[in-house]
Amino acid sequence: MSAYFEIRNLKIDYKTYEKQQRVLDIERIAIEKGKTYGIVGESGSGKTVLALAIMGLLPCPPGIIKSGEIIFDGQDLLKKKNKEMGEKYRGNRIAMIFQDPMSTLNPVFTVGYQMIQIIKQHQKLNKKEAYKKAIEMIEVVKLPDVDDIMKKYPHQLSGGQRQRIIIAMALACGAEFLIADEPTRNLDVTIQASILKLMKELQKKFGVTVLFIANNLSLVSTFCDEIGILHNGKIVEQGRVEEVIKSSKNTYTKILIDSVTKGESVTKKKQEKDEVLLEVKSLKKYFPVKKRKSSKLFVKAVDDVDLKIYKGEVVGIVGESGCGKSTLVNTILNLHEPTSGQVLFDGKNIFELDKNQLRKTRKDIQIVFQDPYWSLNPRWLVKDIISEPIKVHEKLNSISILKRVEDLLELVGLPKSSAFKYPHEFSGGQRQRIAIARALAVNPKLVVLDEPTSSIDVISQAQILELLKELRGRLRLTNILISHDLSVVNYLADKVVIMYLGKIVEYGEAIEVFNNPLHPYTKALFNSIPSLESSGIESLVTLEGNVPSAINPPSGCRFHTRCSMANERCSKEMPAMKVYNDNHSAACFLYEQ
Ligand code: SF4
Repeated sequence: MSAYFEIRNLKIDYKTYEKQQRVLDIERIAIEKGKTYGIVGESGSGKTVLALAIMGLLPCPPGIIKSGEIIFDGQDLLKKKNKEMGEKYRGNRIAMIFQDPMSTLNPVFTVGYQMIQIIKQHQKLNKKEAYKKAIEMIEVVKLPDVDDIMKKYPHQLSGGQRQRIIIAMALACGAEFLIADEPTRNLDVTIQASILKLMKELQKKFGVTVLFIANNLSLVSTFCDEIGILHNGKIVEQGRVEEVIKSSKNTYTKILIDSVTKGESVTKKKQEKDEVLLEVKSLKKYFPVKKRKSSKLFVKAVDDVDLKIYKGEVVGIVGESGCGKSTLVNTILNLHEPTSGQVLFDGKNIFELDKNQLRKTRKDIQIVFQDPYWSLNPRWLVKDIISEPIKVHEKLNSISILKRVEDLLELVGLPKSSAFKYPHEFSGGQRQRIAIARALAVNPKLVVLDEPTSSIDVISQAQILELLKELRGRLRLTNILISHDLSVVNYLADKVVIMYLGKIVEYGEAIEVFNNPLHPYTKALFNSIPSLESSGIESLVTLEGNVPSAINPPSGCRFHTRCSMANERCSKEMPAMKVYNDNHSAACFLYEQ
């Protein structure tokens, strides 16, 4: 008996000028009605090809469907003509949620207009009925101020709100089968938890069957009933989530599980702390927004921040988008002029340095950016990319420069011959190694790591984390690590700074903070992250609502509008940072004593 959704012997090739290659070879995937099946795989493993084939959207050429069946409710979708797929299935009974809602929504039309058009087209309703249905679905996905949301353009909504609109659109058209392709990839962990809970709730309410695609094993295992591991186009292992995670038989699955648990382990020893390398004192960075007759409005991105970073330690800065972590680091790097306050680097205030001193300081502070696909010049050879800072800051001849480049390549685990290749000849993980080599080229004292693993595959992520840990031990580097991935911070950082709406709300040794979080915001943040041990999506804590506006932050404790522990005092007074024990401080009235 066939399942509600089933893939049988599906073989897909891609043909290029040079060769024809098998990109997907799936023997069988079966999903029962109302269940969730998760596919985990790295980029290039065939996840998107599979999703496009199901939707009847696979570009042919270069794609060639060699054989197989995709059975949905007793019908083979591969036998349907494009017209029939468009009229009866795609967008009606089968819908897809993409990872970037901004690319799904049209930026020049309001959300309401787009919803009405789609409902009219797929549900054959008139304008009035479609409007009513749109309002109803926006309420179903729990967005506030429905009338207001209908009038907004996509860019006026947050990432989480946009993803809710996409879910509303899919369900409004009567989707029975939903393909969710990394639906929470670009969202903060707290928003991710609330979107996943919403999806689970609506799945039960509407009886939807879900194919969930992601490269995050923890996420898929928390959300799904069954899981399939896709590697080089083949399902190498599949079964119930607990079975695959607890008793995996396939080597690749084991590597995947290891790479996740590596990120989650706390193995750090407390650092010897002596000399302060960087000290931030009462730093404020306000961005002007609008001038009125008598008043000015400001985005208070960083508001009165104090921080000390000692030589040789890794400090992780964590918080949702808009919390001010990037502005704080950019101001420390002197890329933003501060509104007030000081940043002392090696004892000198970097805002008072002359041109020459500033140039020297820039050599001492280097940065590794998030996306190695954008941060390396595609027209330059790797040797030119790595040697650029050497040429700017040091007077060396070309032979010495090449020798330094080769040494750096070896240091980051790449062969010397990589020097004469271009960035496109490398994988994401290898490119990030090149970016790290470039940052280390002039022996900096401080390296800022801006989400160093968020744009690369899980397995490469684990390797880059290993490398960073090894380099930091070997070179006694001081690092500021910005990341929304707490497992990365947990793995690398000695200290953790938790930021909320421009302020530090908790600070301390990573072991302390991760094992015993104090601030209600930190607790919510930690409890919203799926892990291999999570017992289903219901176990995740959701922090409702978005970060309030930094133009007009809430009075008193800035977190009081979202805090489950708030009392009357919290909205009136701002809690000061209090030391809880030697290595751990928090700004919350609950820890005053
Ligand atoms: Fe919550 Fe009050 Fe503590 Fe702020 S001070 S985190 S609102 S309990």
